[in-house]
Amino acid sequence: MPHQPTHEPASESEAAREFADRHIGPGPAERARMLAAVGFASTAELMAAAVPRGIQIRPDAGAPSALPEPVGESEALAELRRLAERNQVLTSMIGLGYYDTVTPPVIQRNILENPAWYTAYTPYQPEISQGRLEALLNFQTMVADLTGLPVAGASLLDEATAAAEAMTLARRAAKGRGATFVVDSDVFPQTLAVLRTRAEPLGIDIVVADLTEGLPEVPDGETFGVLLQYPAASGAVRDPSAVIQAAHECGALAVVAADLLALTVLRAPGALGADIAVGSTQRFGVPMGFGGPHAGYMSVRTGLQRQLPGRLVGVSVDAAGRPAYRLALQTREQHIRREKATSNICTAQVLLAVMAGMYAVHHGPHGLRAIAERVHGHAVRLAAGLRGLGLEVPHDAFFDTLRARVPGQAGAVVDRARELGVNLLRADDDTVGISCDEVTTDEHVDLVLRAFGGSGARSDEAPAGGALPEGLRRGVDYLAHPVFHSHRSETALLRYLRRLADKDLALDRTMIPLGSCTMKLNATAEMAAVTWPEFARLHPFAPLDQAEGMVRLIRDLEGWLAEVTGYDAVSLQPNAGSQGELAGLLAIRAYHRSRGDRDRDVCLIPSSAHGTNAASAVMAGLRVRVVACDEDGNVDLDNLRAAIAAHRDELAAIMVTYPSTHGVYEDTITEVCALVHEAGGQVYVDGANLNALLGWAKPGEFGADVSHLNLHKTFCIPHGGGGPGVGPVAVRAHLAGFLPNHPAQPEAGPHTGVGPVSAAPFGSAGILPISWAYVRMMGERGLRAATETAVLSANYVARRLAPHYPVLYTGSGGLVAHECIIDVRALAKRTGVSNEDVAKRLIDYGFHAPTMSFPVAGTLMVEPTESEDLAELDRFVDAMIAIRAEIERVADGGYDRGDNPLKNAPHTAEALTADDWKHAYTRAEAGYPVPELRANKYWVPVGRIDQAYGDRNLVCSCPPPEAFEE
Ligand SMILES: *Cc1c(COP(=O)(O)O)cnc(C)c1O
Repeated sequence: MPHQPTHEPASESEAAREFADRHIGPGPAERARMLAAVGFASTAELMAAAVPRGIQIRPDAGAPSALPEPVGESEALAELRRLAERNQVLTSMIGLGYYDTVTPPVIQRNILENPAWYTAYTPYQPEISQGRLEALLNFQTMVADLTGLPVAGASLLDEATAAAEAMTLARRAAKGRGATFVVDSDVFPQTLAVLRTRAEPLGIDIVVADLTEGLPEVPDGETFGVLLQYPAASGAVRDPSAVIQAAHECGALAVVAADLLALTVLRAPGALGADIAVGSTQRFGVPMGFGGPHAGYMSVRTGLQRQLPGRLVGVSVDAAGRPAYRLALQTREQHIRREKATSNICTAQVLLAVMAGMYAVHHGPHGLRAIAERVHGHAVRLAAGLRGLGLEVPHDAFFDTLRARVPGQAGAVVDRARELGVNLLRADDDTVGISCDEVTTDEHVDLVLRAFGGSGARSDEAPAGGALPEGLRRGVDYLAHPVFHSHRSETALLRYLRRLADKDLALDRTMIPLGSCTMKLNATAEMAAVTWPEFARLHPFAPLDQAEGMVRLIRDLEGWLAEVTGYDAVSLQPNAGSQGELAGLLAIRAYHRSRGDRDRDVCLIPSSAHGTNAASAVMAGLRVRVVACDEDGNVDLDNLRAAIAAHRDELAAIMVTYPSTHGVYEDTITEVCALVHEAGGQVYVDGANLNALLGWAKPGEFGADVSHLNLHKTFCIPHGGGGPGVGPVAVRAHLAGFLPNHPAQPEAGPHTGVGPVSAAPFGSAGILPISWAYVRMMGERGLRAATETAVLSANYVARRLAPHYPVLYTGSGGLVAHECIIDVRALAKRTGVSNEDVAKRLIDYGFHAPTMSFPVAGTLMVEPTESEDLAELDRFVDAMIAIRAEIERVADGGYDRGDNPLKNAPHTAEALTADDWKHAYTRAEAGYPVPELRANKYWVPVGRIDQAYGDRNLVCSCPPPEAFEE
């Protein structure tokens, strides 16, 4: 008798509702209570009151949605499984900066697949981020040691953009030089392409030259920088010293794009005189993922650290004088310097940097070197085999990559190799490229030789000696710090990873109510496919017919994102929001130029804008003109009209965030769009706040021409402690021809496009399954419900906090959008307790602080998201109210103004249990201000960190263990 189910299987839509119900924190009863507090009968009513009528989607308008009906977790995973099966993972020997690698399982499970690491936020609150800051310091130390340059940052977006950042750094540093940047002709082609995209709007001339013969003749004083690839794209290992010296002689800076694995056996760029080193750390245990995400790196010589783009971890001291980590020299960054920032980088690649650093911790210097020697050995045997077949292998000095000359036959050889299961590089019609990597075996070498016409029989004699030039060989003069020696056993490494994770507050412990950052649930089912080999092990330049499932997934997601935003075309290539901004602005620029409007170069940006906006505009060759906001926080229309009048013929665009960074739906948005359009400008809507719009309004329909979205905010890609991200750019039809494209993949964008903004054709494709799964499981109704609950939660929090703290801006009906700004400035003036004190005191209550001082200095911005249930929202509000009472005690003299629980927060266990407790308040008041903490207490590992000390005494690599002794 057939098996009888005891109950009907859940229908598809029931299963889907189940996912949306689990993604959305508050259940129906909780929502009802929240609605009652806010004064509405339903979330639909609330939204109808909050969202300006003029931009609301009318449910009866237009065709039915292009989003498919949602499915549940099992069905979504089964669909992803079917997509994965349509990918074909061949042995990849393509190279060009992407190599197969073994992710140590202990790192895969305990970092990449561990929410304690992947759900953390950027370490702006350093006291609750000591674990990931230490991991990043390991990364910086590793990069600094291997490149031989003392200061390394905590990751860039990929190798090609790191090279572009190096180019602009060199230009800033070589002040007074001309506008020429000389680039090695033997550089990775995607690096050259990204350099060209980034150089053109800045008026930089790229001169491509064969640097084997030294520097080309350029007029004296013209060249500000030179970039050389080491080893070269062709595999050749050339001594860069002469080029570096020639660059210095003409006053230019020397940039070396170097492969870190090669640097375990080759002399360091710094030792050869380089000013800057850049590259990728992908092959240190991070899967290729069809292009990303991976951590790019940059290190610089002393004197250039204040020019460094992106984030830099440094060592400082805490209140007890102990070493503690935090982000250093933030005054370089976009969130402070805006259009004068060193770059627009905000979200970087922290999770991947943590993995790469731990790969070095796992293997240690000798382990890394052994991997490099094995890889090199395979390349040497391959070269001997090819030469044995009578083929020309042009380079005598190489590390892992070879070129073989097969006149007219390259295509045929590559095809034969593919039939044997190996992807090789067709460098040109006559040349095949082969790269060995960590997973290359003797069998792979034999297969490659067969593809070139060898018999397949193995010659057992290993060729004597290597192919590294004598003068460039290097001893093990790196990674001497004990951290790279103390975790050889898996037990030790496992505990080290756990110990670091335990120091940090991530979403797996508490809500992270960070305004503008949308720290919502990253569901486990969404994450599952990221490490499936069918997605993870695809080379970004693999033939598309081997990536059918991945391409389907990409096209699905592009279509869905276009649908929910009302745009016509989407590019997933930008690998952070900042890069999406650049891509969108480049599209606007190219559009104006295509119409002969070459003088339109002014970009209007409201004073409340995110720092990336201004920095991106400068990178796109635009001039920034700030537009004022009125006292309600809205774009000041009179000021806007005046700005437009002053720049009518030069107006390129306005860049506005919607809902505004003040967390309100400005009802003048349609008017803003109209005014700019009338003057011939384009409207860029920063889509980072899409969590307040999905299902209710579409920027592409209410007047915008282009937006970037942040998949690592609205679409559930976890924040990773500061990356990865994906920042798709979405445009209306007239801009579609100006989206990014890619030289290695014609399918990646329009042939008329502006060039690539990322190294990989589809950017960080490896994490797109996360957002795909989110949309697939939520469907249109689910997304709409998520938006409604996000807005309800923000209004609930605002309503409950309002009697205790002023809520700075509200829109129509006194409502906020998906976030609210809490104004503590008056309190601070009266009591001396600042927003920073409140933020640090929240740590004692077990919370991550809200966003501090953005967009308004001295305030806190709270974004609860739809994923937090009512109990957690109340726990947060109750903590804020309790803190408010503490502030009041300071005001009325019950607490000393200087010695109180707020000023001394956060309190470590050590401080609280010290034999001599000298404070004017009790230990219990400090450590257990609310009773619930007795059952569940987070103990912060360090006290408040002295920011200024760390900038005055800059240390950006692992301190010696003695530094932590008493
Ligand atoms: C997060 C954010 C950005 C930048 O995105 P990144 O991915 O960090 O580069 C831009 N604008 C706003 C309003 C944001 O909140």
